[in-house]
Amino acid sequence: MTDRLYYHDSFLYDFDADVQSTSESPRPALILDRTAFYPTSGGQLHDTGWITFGSEKLRVTEVADTEDGKVIHYLEVPPKEITPGSKVRGEIDITRRRDHMRQHSAQHVLSAAFVRLHNMPTVSFHMADDYCSIDLDTPTLTKEQIESAERLANEIVLEDRPVDIRFVTRDEADKLGLRKLPPAERDQLRLIDVHDFDLSACGGTHVAHTGQIGCILLRKAEKVRQGWRIEFVAGLRAVFTARRDFTALTDTAALFSAHIYDVPQQARKLLDEIRSLRKQREEAQEELAQAQAANLLVDTPETQGRKLIVRTFSDCDLSSIKLLAQKLTRLAPNAVALLATTSPQPSLVFAQSAGQSFDMGALMKETMARVGGRGGGSKDLAQGGVPPSTALDAMLEDLKQKLSDRI
Ligand SMILES: [Zn+2]
Repeated sequence: MTDRLYYHDSFLYDFDADVQSTSESPRPALILDRTAFYPTSGGQLHDTGWITFGSEKLRVTEVADTEDGKVIHYLEVPPKEITPGSKVRGEIDITRRRDHMRQHSAQHVLSAAFVRLHNMPTVSFHMADDYCSIDLDTPTLTKEQIESAERLANEIVLEDRPVDIRFVTRDEADKLGLRKLPPAERDQLRLIDVHDFDLSACGGTHVAHTGQIGCILLRKAEKVRQGWRIEFVAGLRAVFTARRDFTALTDTAALFSAHIYDVPQQARKLLDEIRSLRKQREEAQEELAQAQAANLLVDTPETQGRKLIVRTFSDCDLSSIKLLAQKLTRLAPNAVALLATTSPQPSLVFAQSAGQSFDMGALMKETMARVGGRGGGSKDLAQGGVPPSTALDAMLEDLKQKLSDRI
């Protein structure tokens, strides 16, 4: 068993230790007789840092628990001088550790706030590199409940209450009324005591006073299978997050030439305008297609009982020529339309009035096979995209000839 120095002092950032064993595979690693490095566990991420021996300074990239109760330190590169028995110096990355302490202590305070105010126990805690989350066991969660828990948690932070580490027996713990009690497997329990506010069994590293948490900012709340998940950030993470939010909001407000608090109203107004303009454009397109179709039908003479309309457009997209094809085949009972557009991508639409005898889907497939495009459709309406090098006019003339021969 490795002697875990962080159990007694979360502020111990460097220490001396003896190397117990080293290994190279699958990754270079070493085990010490004692360590202040925290291994990933209980929702808290591992420490990083350095292990020094003489002139050799090795980067510790990950720390984990082994199955037999030891702490393993994974190294960036294999040690050269270090062997079992070497007396080394360990040094924790202080910035990372302090951040983790703030997040983890914030979690205890926040979880206790949700229990005290709303009787919502925390069932899990997750720490990521940029945010943390807790899962609350509750079927419902309101905005007011979130805000009141955030407020109480921050009041406890501002009161700067002591946070003590205590060791008790299992029997003692049972009588103390802990917020969180681990499964009965250990005789001795380590408790984190946020003075007169929260008492939980926990192996993590914590601040010594709640004021060191800085502040707690609640972010996203989302329904998950077993309850509600709340994301939060504490300490400098909260400051960085608030700064990023403010920058995003300020940039958006500048686009509207508005105050940041008017952004939602301005965005709503703009979306309404877009929706209304889109509707107007659709109506105009319908009218235009209807008029265009009527003109084309007037200009196209009937050949053997059919009006065969063949056109290539350079200023209409696929959806516009599709609309035109639909208008043509609905306005006239005997129309066959072979339409193409060059923009933005060369595309084809073939259509015929209901009841006509060709098969537009089959014709499109045939054409696509010849030019190397992709497309298809039904008996009366088909569409496809063709390679940019395709000579559209010549191809349509060829198809027109083919259809005329079949009539
Ligand atoms: Zn904890």
